[in-house]
Amino acid sequence: MYGLSQDDLALQDTARAFTEELIPYEVEAEMNNGELPEGIVEKQKSRAIQLGLYATNISKELGGRGCSAIQQVLVQEQGGRVTNALGWVLGTPPLWFAEVATEDQLERWLRPTVRGEISECYAITEEFAGTDVAALEATARRDGDDYVLNGVKWHVTSYNEASYVFFQAVLTNGPNAGEHGLFIVDIPTPGLRVVRTPAYSHTFSHHHPIVAFEDVRVPASHLVGNEGDGMTFAYEWFRFERLMIAARCLGAADRLVEEMTAFAQSRIIDGLPLIKRQLVQGMLADSVTELFATRSMVYETARSIDAGDDRKVLHARCSMIKLYSSEMANRVADRAVQVFGGRGYMRENVAERFYRELRVERIWEGASEVQRVIVADQLDKRGLRALV
Ligand SMILES: Cc1cc2nc3c(=O)[nH]c(=O)nc-3n(C[C@H](O)[C@H](O)[C@H](O)COP(=O)(O)OP(=O)(O)OC[C@H]3O[C@@H](n4cnc5c(N)ncnc54)[C@H](O)[C@@H]3O)c2cc1C
Repeated sequence: MYGLSQDDLALQDTARAFTEELIPYEVEAEMNNGELPEGIVEKQKSRAIQLGLYATNISKELGGRGCSAIQQVLVQEQGGRVTNALGWVLGTPPLWFAEVATEDQLERWLRPTVRGEISECYAITEEFAGTDVAALEATARRDGDDYVLNGVKWHVTSYNEASYVFFQAVLTNGPNAGEHGLFIVDIPTPGLRVVRTPAYSHTFSHHHPIVAFEDVRVPASHLVGNEGDGMTFAYEWFRFERLMIAARCLGAADRLVEEMTAFAQSRIIDGLPLIKRQLVQGMLADSVTELFATRSMVYETARSIDAGDDRKVLHARCSMIKLYSSEMANRVADRAVQVFGGRGYMRENVAERFYRELRVERIWEGASEVQRVIVADQLDKRGLRALV
């Protein structure tokens, strides 16, 4: 099915077998604030690297696996089947960085990241600047051979795990004053301070703290790309991340349909298995149909990336699949909770965990409303035939 090659199928099998090993740890993570006993995640990460499931998005020259887009999707889809972010050990280092990094930056940060020795996080969002990145208030002031960084960033995912953070700020002096710059800051660096670590709906070991940058001084060699770039060179990355979110949501929905079907087959009510009740059949049928539609869309989009289709059209398609897949997975999770009944409301149940965890997929990397705006704008500019 889907015309996958032998290599694609072998990679899919490897990823599937690997994530099956992660699933038994979910409840333990859920009951322990997302944490597993010391050394387990490190072992899982080493195994992901050894199996060729890590850095699938990075070229072989940089030490990655150099997989096609469809292969990357196949791996991330399997990662999405696991709750509590245990699938995040299938790391995808920042591909966009490879395109603008200096040789020194490649050696110090990107190559060790691709080897799985260190990892990154992003400090872009602020209290009053999320969707609207143009409203950022964080500043970067050039001072001799250094930049001095100030600002307070929200939702800095994985800050507690990362070795360096990408920080976006408005330049306050020099020829590009008023424009944005992106900087690498090692963790720790004097002036970095966790303001607080709020609790979120999901139970992950990766936290999303609010982080203050107070007169943080970095050498000019920590500027990524040029002054004025900000994250503008990261459009490629947005496309990539949206495709990967779509793939992971697909995996989540796949797991949910599998689990709720098994439950509906075994649960007897009034002498009949639940799967024979037509109202429950409706929920299962809608879920599996939407799963099939989403998989077709996501795989087709990955193929059009591999085929080198027009970038603007791909941008719109990645928005479509991020929108559709994340909303589909949320609908499936809602139905799964319903099919499981009271069990579906227990934290030890996969449906309950996904019901909370999948909600953010409709918000981060561009909320659903923003994806709709992108799709409608592209429809207006390029016409229906170009998009679908
Ligand atoms: C768990 C989590 C992890 C995150 N990790 C990171 C991270 O690592 N680094 C980082 O920098 N940021 C991170 N974020 C921030 C995330 O990218 C933002 O939350 C997201 O971009 C939305 O910004 P906002 O929360 O400020 O919402 P706002 O921009 O205030 O938008 C609120 C709502 O308004 C609606 N809306 C916004 N714009 C439009 C529009 N044009 N048309 C119609 N409706 C609109 C949408 O429904 C949106 O959800 C994370 C967020 C969460 C929840």
